Amino acid sequence: MDLQMAEQRVQELHQLLNQYNYEYHVLDKPSVPDAEYDQLIHELIQLEEAFPGLKTLDSPSQRVGGSILDMFEKVQHEIPMLSLGNAFNEQDLRDFDRRIRQAVGDRFTYVCELKIDGLAVSLRYENGLFMQGATRGDGTIGEDITSNLKTIRSIPLRLKDEVTMEVRGEAFMPKKSFESLNQAKVEKGEEPFANPRNAAAGSLRQLDPKMAASRNLDIYLYSIANIGELNIHSHSQGLTYLDELGFKTNKERKTCPTIEEVIEYVDGWVEKRPSLPYEIDGIVIKVDSLDQQKELGTTAKSPRWAIAYKFPAEEVVTTLKHIELSVGRTGVVTPTAILEPVQVAGTTVQRASLHNEDLIREKDIRIGDQVVIKKAGDIIPEVVNVLADRRTGDEMEFSMPTHCPECESELVRLEEEVALRCMNPKCPAQIREGLIHFVSRNAMNIDGLGEKVISQLFAEKLIQDVADLYKLTYDLLIQLERMGEKSANNLLQAIEVSKDNSLEKLLFGLGIRHVGAKAAKTLSQTFGTMSELAKASREELTAINEIGDKMADSIVTFFDMEEVQELLEELVSAGVNMEYKGPKPVSVEDSDSFFAGKTVVLTGKLEQMSRNEAKDQIEQLGGKVAGSVSKKTDLVVAGADAGSKLAKAEELGIEVWSEEKLLEELSK
Ligand code: NAD
Repeated sequence: MDLQMAEQRVQELHQLLNQYNYEYHVLDKPSVPDAEYDQLIHELIQLEEAFPGLKTLDSPSQRVGGSILDMFEKVQHEIPMLSLGNAFNEQDLRDFDRRIRQAVGDRFTYVCELKIDGLAVSLRYENGLFMQGATRGDGTIGEDITSNLKTIRSIPLRLKDEVTMEVRGEAFMPKKSFESLNQAKVEKGEEPFANPRNAAAGSLRQLDPKMAASRNLDIYLYSIANIGELNIHSHSQGLTYLDELGFKTNKERKTCPTIEEVIEYVDGWVEKRPSLPYEIDGIVIKVDSLDQQKELGTTAKSPRWAIAYKFPAEEVVTTLKHIELSVGRTGVVTPTAILEPVQVAGTTVQRASLHNEDLIREKDIRIGDQVVIKKAGDIIPEVVNVLADRRTGDEMEFSMPTHCPECESELVRLEEEVALRCMNPKCPAQIREGLIHFVSRNAMNIDGLGEKVISQLFAEKLIQDVADLYKLTYDLLIQLERMGEKSANNLLQAIEVSKDNSLEKLLFGLGIRHVGAKAAKTLSQTFGTMSELAKASREELTAINEIGDKMADSIVTFFDMEEVQELLEELVSAGVNMEYKGPKPVSVEDSDSFFAGKTVVLTGKLEQMSRNEAKDQIEQLGGKVAGSVSKKTDLVVAGADAGSKLAKAEELGIEVWSEEKLLEELSK
C-alpha cells in the first residue's frame, strides 16, 4: 500500500471509528459488533505503525471512550481513567509477558481478574463518605452520575474507615435483570438494549435516579486511584483493603506467578464463563507490584502493566456470498446463506440457515451484503442483521424460486405455513434426505452410512428407497469411490445389525409426517407390531394421549398408500424386524386389575397425584390412557374444573369417577 492509499484508508477508518465510538459510548446503542470495532482499530494501529506520519493526536487509536453528554455536570478526573491494551490469543499474552520481563526483569507476579462487561465508574469518598461518582467519559472528563450511582445498593455510602480516596470499578447489569428489563421493553413496544453493557450504561446515564433504581445494577470495585499515604504496595493488597472498607470486589481473582498460569486461568474461564450470573468479555491481567506498575508506566491510552484478554468474538461481520437452496425430506425448500468463512466464538462459520423467505424479507437480506453473524444458543449460526449502510449498490435482492430446484415441480405454500414445499413425492432430493434420515442415529442408526455415502449410493442409482439398503452387496459397495474393503464389510455388518432394531426405530426412520421419535415409541408400545399399527383407525390413534388429529391423519394416509405396503413387504422379506422389543406395558391377560384392557381418560386437575403419575399407574395395571373421549372410552376420571371432556363423557353416557374413587381402586 502506498502513502496515498494509506492516507485515504486512515481517513475512512477515523470516520467509521468515530461514528462507532459515538454510537457505543454516547448513545449506548452500537450498530456493529465489538469484534468489528476491534478489527478496524487494529487495522488503524497497523497503518499508523507503517506510516508514522499518519498518526494524529485526535486519532481514535489515541483516545479513550467517547464524548460527554451535556445533560450531566462535568467531572475532571485528576488521575486519568484509561483504557486497556488488548490480547486476542495466547501469542499476544506471551508478547505482553516478554515486554514486562524486558522492563522489570523476572521477579514479578500477575493478578488475573474477570473483565466485567459494564461501565467504568469512579467513586470519590471524603472522610469515609461517598461524595461523587462519575463515568469515565473521555478519560479526563467524565459525567457526574452520583444520584444514579447512589441507587446501587452495593456502593457503600459510608466506609468502615474515615478515609479520603477515589476508587474505580465496573458497574454492570446482572444477566437476570437484563433479561427481564428487555422483556418488559419488548412488551411495551420499546426497542430492547443490545447487551447488558449498553443496558447498564443507558441506565446510569439518564436523568431520573428512580429509573436507575429500578434497573437492579451492581458493581465490582477493582482499583484505588490514589494510593497516596495508604500503606499499600500491591494491587492485590489494595483489593483486600477495598473488601475491608465494605466495597464489593470480585472474588474470582487469582495471583499467577507465571504466564503459563495466566493462560490456564484464561482457558478455564472460556469454559466457565456461561455459568456466571453476569457478562464478562475477557480477563484483565495486571502486574501486582505497584512499584513495578510505576516503572512500566502508561501510554496515552492505556497502562503498560496491564492487558485485557478478549474472549473469541460471539458476533462478527462477514459477507454473504450467495444463497443456496436445499430440499428437505418433507419437501420444504430452505434457503441457506453461504458466507465468507469467519471465526465465531472460536469456530469457523461458513453457512447459516435463513429458514424461509419471510425472514429474508424481514431482515432485508441481499446477496453481497455485509451481515452480522452469531451462534444462537452458542451452537447454530444465524444472521442477526444486515449492515445496510455498507451497501455499495451491487447487492442483489433474492426471491425464492417458483419451482423445485431439484425436480422442477411447482412449489406450493401450504395454508398457515411460511415454508415453500415441493409436493412431488418422487423428488430426488426428498428421497435422498429421507434415506439420510432413515439411517440416522435416532432412526435405524446404521454406523458408517452417513450423508456422503448415501448421496453417493443414490447418485449411482444403487439405492432408490430404504428397502434397497438391505439389498446392497459387497460387490456393489466396493465400486464406490473411496470405499475400502474394510469399510464395505463394516457397513454391511452395520446394515445387518439394524435389521434387529426395535419397531420404534424403523417407524421413526420411515419419516411419516408429524411422527417424531417420541410418538414412534408410544405407537410401537401401544400397537406392538407394524401390522397392528397399519390397521389402526383414526379413532384408535387419537384415543392415545399424545396422538393428535394431524398425526393420526398422517399415519392413516401413510399406511393406506400402496407404495408403503409394498415397501413394508420388501423390508419384511429382507428380514427387518417389525416388532416392538422394549419394555411392554402390562398385558391385559396378565392383569386382574379393574383397569386391564380399559381405556381411561383423565381430565381436570388432580389434587393427590399428577396426571402423569396416574397414567403410569393405570398403564402398569394394563389400562390405556387416552387423550380424548370417544365411544371407546370406558371411564373418565374428572378432577377439579373438568371441562368439555366431562361434558362429552356425560353426553355419551360414559362412567365418570372422582379422583378419590380412582385412588381407592388403584390402591386395591
Ligand atoms: P475495554 O473495555 O476493552 O477495556 C477497559 C475497560 O475494562 C475499563 O475501562 C474497565 O471499564 C473495564 N474493566 C472491567 N473489568 C475490569 C477489571 N477487573 N480491571 C480493570 N478494568 C476492567 O476498553 P474500552 O476503551 O472501555 O472500550 C473498548 C471496547 O469497547 C472494545 O471492546 C470495543 O470493541 C468496544 N467498543 C465497541 C464499539 C462498537 O461500535 N461496537 C465502539 C467502541 C468501543
